Amino acid sequence: MKLHEYQSKALFARHNIPIPRGRVAATASEAKQIAEELGGNVVIKAQVLVGGRGKSGGIRLARSHEEAESFATQILAMSIKDLPVRHILVDEAASFNREIYLGITNDRAARKPVMMASAAGGVDIEEVAAVTPEKILRMHIDPLLGLREYQARYLAVAIDLPRQLLRSFADIAQGLWAAYLENDATLAEINPLVVTSNNRLLALDGKMVLDDNALFRHPDLADMRDRDVEDWAEVEARKYGLSYISLDGEIGCMVNGAGLAMTTMDIIKLSGGSPANFLDIGGGASADKVAAALRIILADRKVKSVLFNIFGGITRCDEVARGVLDALAEVDSDVPMVVRLAGTNAAEGRALLAEARMSTAETLLEAAQKAVELAGRRQS
Ligand code: GDP
Ligand code: MN
Repeated sequence: MKLHEYQSKALFARHNIPIPRGRVAATASEAKQIAEELGGNVVIKAQVLVGGRGKSGGIRLARSHEEAESFATQILAMSIKDLPVRHILVDEAASFNREIYLGITNDRAARKPVMMASAAGGVDIEEVAAVTPEKILRMHIDPLLGLREYQARYLAVAIDLPRQLLRSFADIAQGLWAAYLENDATLAEINPLVVTSNNRLLALDGKMVLDDNALFRHPDLADMRDRDVEDWAEVEARKYGLSYISLDGEIGCMVNGAGLAMTTMDIIKLSGGSPANFLDIGGGASADKVAAALRIILADRKVKSVLFNIFGGITRCDEVARGVLDALAEVDSDVPMVVRLAGTNAAEGRALLAEARMSTAETLLEAAQKAVELAGRRQS
């Protein structure tokens, strides 16, 4: 889950990272009032969960509260990369000499978090990463030891920070690490971290991505979720406790068990097709859960056939079959479906489905081949 800039910066501030004074607003008149409180010289920033807001006109410097109000009106009417701007952050404007990049993410290959710093921070960091990656310095963090003081100092020296800022940089790096660790983040980033004209470090922008699987430990953060950026299907799936991920293919899959779901996707590929989703309905799924899952799969317009691969253990095949029939009674769909049921109550399940117009298969390979073939026929 991505956090907005104002949310990320609020978390940064809890860890003593210096951020500009400012507040979030939903209307231009609120923005005007905040600007007035801050003395007029403010920056108005669109709060949308995409990068490159600056380049899209979503960030404007205002010199008075009147100007702040008019920029706020303009920005609140914008959509950036198809996302509507619902909130703006009104921050005291900063003047600065340098823009630095500082971030932490997981390095899966190293199985450790990595802190990255660059003297070439600011709006072109993606280009720096692509064209001159050597300008981004990396330092792995041992998760048991945490970020060590010498590591932060090494990065500070490597990006040519003046000596008198070493202390402050090390504190910010430590604060960012604490924010990353304590909130179960997968990304915590300050870009730019600026050296102000009175020679202080200040985090002008903030970005955090939290691990969805750890959100149960942070109910207050989970409430910050922005529904605008979410896939409808993924939200719906979460409601029913299904794990669902949309993909680009044309064959919808409903499977019980994550490993079996991945195998199913592989076998679809092996059979010349491509999965439209990953879906694990979990063990012991009830009929209403199965019905919700099928509604989600069929809501995807790309889906040309659906493959059910159910291995009955705790999950009973007849219960799944009943869910499928419930869903079919409710959703009007002519998408062909192939069912492979095996294990507990498979015969009962198959008997139930025989009444519906569904093809059945004995083996997964056979089922996948049928699903691919049926999808191909619809395409042509
Ligand atoms: P992003 O484009 O979405 O990454 O948004 P940022 O918050 O990083 O802002 C983009 C750029 O706007 C920064 O790199 C700065 O150059 C500039 N900017 C942001 N805030 C201020 C500010 O308070 N004063 C000045 N002068 N420039 C700012
Ligand atoms: Mn930025």
